[in-house]
Amino acid sequence: MGIYTRLTAFIPKQSCVLCTEQSIFCVCECCEQSLQVSQHRCRSCAAPLNSDLHFCGSCLSRSPLFINAYALYDYSGVCANLIKRFKFDHQLCIGDFFAHKLHEKYLDIVNDQGEYDAIIPLPLSANRLRERGYNQTHELLRILAKKSDVLIDRTSVKRTKSTRALSTLNLEERKIEIKNAFSAQAMTYNKVLLVDDVMTTGSSLNELSKTVLKAGAKLCDVLTVARA
Ligand SMILES: [Zn+2]
Ligand SMILES: [Zn+2]
Repeated sequence: MGIYTRLTAFIPKQSCVLCTEQSIFCVCECCEQSLQVSQHRCRSCAAPLNSDLHFCGSCLSRSPLFINAYALYDYSGVCANLIKRFKFDHQLCIGDFFAHKLHEKYLDIVNDQGEYDAIIPLPLSANRLRERGYNQTHELLRILAKKSDVLIDRTSVKRTKSTRALSTLNLEERKIEIKNAFSAQAMTYNKVLLVDDVMTTGSSLNELSKTVLKAGAKLCDVLTVARA
C-alpha cells in the first residue's frame, strides 16, 4: 500500500452528486473531467478564444479595469449545473469541491505572478444575503482562507445598492444597474485579487475594480470559478 493510498484510506468518502460513485469530493475525478476548461483565453478578461489572439475584441476596443482574469472552468453544461445546485439548492459540498480547486488555482497564479496583498470577495447586497443565508463567495474561499496566509478582506468593501438579477439584463443594462453599487474604505494594497463565482460580462467585477482602485489599491486581478 503506497503512502497516498494509506493517507486517503482515512479520508471519509462521499457520493458524487453527478454519478453517485464514492469519491473524496462530491464531484468525482471522472465527472470532473467533463467540466470544460478552455486552454485559450483572453489575457485580459478570460473569455474563451478560438484563435491565437491574446485579447478578445471587446477588450481590444475597451479593456477592463482589472489586469488579468483567471477562471477555472467554462460556464456551460455540467459546470453551470453544479454552480446552480450550489447557489440555489444550497448543496454546500459542491462549494467545498470548488473551494479546493480555487485554492489549487490560486497557488498556480501566485507561483507565476507573485503574491497578493489581499483577496476581496464580491460583496452581496443585504437583501440577497438575507434571502440566501450566506455569501457563496465566502464559501468558495474557505479552503484558501484555511491553507494560505493571504488576507481575505471581507469588510473593506460594502454593497450599497441592491441590484436586480443581472442575468436577465444585457451588457448595457448591467453596466447601468451595477454602477455605484459598492463603496470601499481607503486601502493601501498594491495588488488585490477579486473573487466571484461566475463572470458573464464582467460588469460587476469591473465596477468592483473601479471601487477598489479609487479606494487606493494599485492593481486588481480577478478569479472566478467559471467564465461564460
Ligand atoms: Zn461522478
Ligand atoms: Zn477579453
